[in-house]
Amino acid sequence: MEILVIALIPLSFLLLGAGFLVVAQVSGFVQSAFFNQRHNFSNMVIQQYMERITLAQGQLYQRKQELEVMSGKLSLSNQELGRLNDMKSKFLSMVVHDVRTPLASIKGFSELLVKKNLGEREAGYLKNIVSSTEQLGRLISDLTDLAMIEAGKLKMEKMIFNFPDLAKDILPGLSINAQNKGVELVVHDFPDGVLVDGDKFRLSQVFMNLVNNAIKFTPAGKRVEVSFRREGKYMNTSVKDSGIGIHPSETRKIFEKFYQARHQKDEKLRKQGWGLGLCIAQEVVRAHKGDIGAASPGLGKGSTFWFKIPAGV
Ligand code: ADP
Repeated sequence: MEILVIALIPLSFLLLGAGFLVVAQVSGFVQSAFFNQRHNFSNMVIQQYMERITLAQGQLYQRKQELEVMSGKLSLSNQELGRLNDMKSKFLSMVVHDVRTPLASIKGFSELLVKKNLGEREAGYLKNIVSSTEQLGRLISDLTDLAMIEAGKLKMEKMIFNFPDLAKDILPGLSINAQNKGVELVVHDFPDGVLVDGDKFRLSQVFMNLVNNAIKFTPAGKRVEVSFRREGKYMNTSVKDSGIGIHPSETRKIFEKFYQARHQKDEKLRKQGWGLGLCIAQEVVRAHKGDIGAASPGLGKGSTFWFKIPAGV
């Protein structure tokens, strides 16, 4: 019995070893078949991808050629557009120049006539002529500025000056405009000495435009507030009114040339302007490396316009 057990042990090891060998071989075979299959499958997928890439490359090349044709056409129309724009700017400055001279003589002669002893009716007519020529004069100067902006010729004549002094010089004239309209003009936080490096004439144009607009768009009996504030390296001037307000969708658009707010229904006020003042103001402020903007809580709720320029040079 013991001998049988002893003989069976190596036999069973032998059988086990053989079993392992067979299993290993079968599994190797299965694995290699599987591997081959996977390999073939990967090859197929790669092949498909290659085909797709080749196709995409072909399409890309075609698009590139189409794009080149289109960009050629675009550059031609750009040149044409540039030429037309130049013509328009030249035409504009010619018209402006030709209108300015006769306008100056109408204004001059009307002012002479005002000094004469005229009847009440004639004096009324003359007042109309003077105010219309003034209005035309403003349009002409705005158009001149626009022509210069478009030709890239709006040059700033900069010098270092005290900004509050400039505001002090302008405010009395603006107060008269406010009084004439029955609007109260209040000035807050007038600063002491703030030096800026800028074009005095152009910056007063910006300031006057914002305050005159505020007076224009505010009904009699209400108020316009002007305030000055140092904001780090900037001098911020803001003009808050209690007038007709601006629709939120238009607070940026009103800085575009010839744009007048469409949500405002007052035709009479619209006819008093041409939508150029803010566009020019924006150019001037940008030429001083500053910023300008407007905010309003909505129609009928007033607006605040502000501009800031570097200060403390
Ligand atoms: P203009 O006043 O001659 O039309 P602007 O460029 O100065 O031209 O202003 C453009 C438009 O912005 C105005 O027509 C008006 O619709 C709007 N706007 C400007 N200022 C104010 C303000 N203070 N309150 C309400 N709307 C304003």
